[in-house]
Amino acid sequence: MNLIFAAKSLLVTRAATGDGWYLPDSAQLQNLSYQPSLIQVDGINILGSISPDVDLSLLPELRLVNLRQALNFFGMEMIEKIIHAEQMLFYQETNRYCSTCGQATSLSTLGKWLHCGHCEHEIYPRISPAMIVAVTHGNKLLMAQANHFAPEMWSVLAGFCEVGESLEQTVHREVFEEVGIKIKNVQYWGSQYWPFPNSLMIAFTAEYESGEIVLDTTEMRAAGFFAKNEIPGRPSTHLSIASRLIDDFIAKH
Ligand SMILES: [Zn+2]
Repeated sequence: MNLIFAAKSLLVTRAATGDGWYLPDSAQLQNLSYQPSLIQVDGINILGSISPDVDLSLLPELRLVNLRQALNFFGMEMIEKIIHAEQMLFYQETNRYCSTCGQATSLSTLGKWLHCGHCEHEIYPRISPAMIVAVTHGNKLLMAQANHFAPEMWSVLAGFCEVGESLEQTVHREVFEEVGIKIKNVQYWGSQYWPFPNSLMIAFTAEYESGEIVLDTTEMRAAGFFAKNEIPGRPSTHLSIASRLIDDFIAKH
């Protein structure tokens, strides 16, 4: 398995026959100059990075695709490996220097995190917990459009945990802040690591309790409750936990 990233893009190749995009084999990477990763990830043969502005005109079988789009080419097991590798590479590239003393970092003896040999500071990969919630009101699902979404894209609500909060407090706070309603019966549903930017998404279901929808327009441009046959748009990656939460609502209503 050969993974070369350029910022949030992945290097892929088209198969000689048939459709779809695949990971390049080692022969196809022979003439590509890339920065190899210090960190080794189990099951990854070549892991490295190139500049997003790299000229691939002499390697026409290779192409960079946006990581979010690339995830649609692969099954869940492969996606988990790609995400793991991309996150470790990003971690390494953004922690070249110690945040305590400014000296260069190096790989720890176990090879899984970075270490400062000058002041002994250990730098672990950052994981940001975030909640995502499917709020139902009778047979309808709360969906919203964040200001940064594409025009046709709607999803369930999500938000990062703040310092000092439990996950349940995050769920109540984010729903109230973004759309102004109170919810009840918050139940854990599942979780997924998501590399945009480095989130551990913890999913919940909940029920509407009270209030009218009042948008926080600094974050949201629309929100409403939709029956399963009225759902206005879907997350762009079908394997995201947001998409699976919506599928679960549809299956149960
Ligand atoms: Zn240091």
